[in-house]
Amino acid sequence: MSANPSVSQNKKGIIMKFHSTKNSCSAVTASEAVRAGLASDGGLFVPDSFPVLDSYVLQPDITYMERAIRVLKPFFGGDPAELRIEEICSEAFNFPVPLRWLDDKQAVLELFHGPTLAFKDFGARFLSEFLEKTCPEGMSPLTVLVATSGDTGGAVAAAFHKKRCATVRVFFPQSGVSDRQRAQLTCWGENVTSYSVQGTFDDCQSLVKHAFTIPGLSEKMGLTSANSINLGRLLPQTVYYVHSTVLFRERTGVAPYIVVPTGNVGNVTAAFWAKKMGAPIAGIILAVNANRTIPDYLETGLYNKRKSVATLANAMDVGHPSNMERLINLFPTFEEIRNEVKAFSVSDDQIKETIRRCYEETGEILCPHTAVAERVRGEQLPGMPSIVVATAHPAKFETIVEPLIGKPLEIPASLAEMLKRPRHEISITPDTNLVGLVQSDKVA
Ligand SMILES: *Cc1c(COP(=O)(O)O)cnc(C)c1O
Repeated sequence: MSANPSVSQNKKGIIMKFHSTKNSCSAVTASEAVRAGLASDGGLFVPDSFPVLDSYVLQPDITYMERAIRVLKPFFGGDPAELRIEEICSEAFNFPVPLRWLDDKQAVLELFHGPTLAFKDFGARFLSEFLEKTCPEGMSPLTVLVATSGDTGGAVAAAFHKKRCATVRVFFPQSGVSDRQRAQLTCWGENVTSYSVQGTFDDCQSLVKHAFTIPGLSEKMGLTSANSINLGRLLPQTVYYVHSTVLFRERTGVAPYIVVPTGNVGNVTAAFWAKKMGAPIAGIILAVNANRTIPDYLETGLYNKRKSVATLANAMDVGHPSNMERLINLFPTFEEIRNEVKAFSVSDDQIKETIRRCYEETGEILCPHTAVAERVRGEQLPGMPSIVVATAHPAKFETIVEPLIGKPLEIPASLAEMLKRPRHEISITPDTNLVGLVQSDKVA
């Protein structure tokens, strides 16, 4: 076990292990890491070593599904789940993942064609299918706790609804989500309960993190997390970086820069992992909103966690990103992290200006999160080969986008269906005692 994972060939038969970023508990298999969510020492699981992508995975002419299976299988080497990866992928990734070209050098990777119209569907659906297909017969359901700034909760609720493997508790900031996000968070019932917390996303995250530290609760309730601290959310996100960059290189002959709208640093960590495995990526840029924790850290070397501030790109309103621990684990010295990781902040005014201008100039309609990344591409990478990651469908944020483009947005069918359903939510304060809450079987 090493704090500084080295790249090694994962040949057939090699057992893949994962260790904690805090390095003070023993290494586990992928299944164990996914079921636990967080390591027992409070750290996040990272691979002991990274599999190297082979020439088959790096060819352009294979389907998304084939690539997903080939990229993900080595992470489950020696794990009983290895045999179920095909099935899990084919259930989870049943929607398109288009790479759309703006011109001959610039593309947009659209990750919002899943059921809840944000990239969170990839991780949430993989995680739910994984748990459902590997859950031992007769085992009582897990309790999945999820803190959400808007999109994660909807994706996790949709992915787990009516699954037998888990009951789900979603915690979202009462006044921090759009009405359509709220519909996606609260239209479920059965095994899914949604709590609106009278506070910020950071309060929601603290509530959930605290539950894992209550002695005995984790074992008793089979607690796990469906936040991007869970390895089962992160691994499937590596696939679309491999896929899109292979297609990009096939068409242009060069490896692209990737610009990722970033909040809790989960999605962009998957990009760094894909690069480490050998995906053709020239560099990775974090585009953040007014929550400047990361750019300030890279500039000064001092990491100051903050309270999150509310912005138009609400799914990125994070003052203390959980997955920074994984990035620091990948690049252990400040020198390395400063060389490898670039981050730029975009204000709300710039988000608005970018949505308006892109629509006027090209007809492109961006969600506020994707606008953060387009802004950064325009300023930092003019004319360079690049992919902007489009993380949500603009129709989820119609109250922001419609006035800027001056016309109504079409509502995709999956969203229209969720908007029609009855909603259930329970309002709680940030200091609510989760023990009572989690142990109650009451479902609103
Ligand atoms: C969650 C989310 C992000 C931020 O992703 P992280 O993995 O938290 O960095 C960006 N855009 C949208 C639309 C999201 O839902």
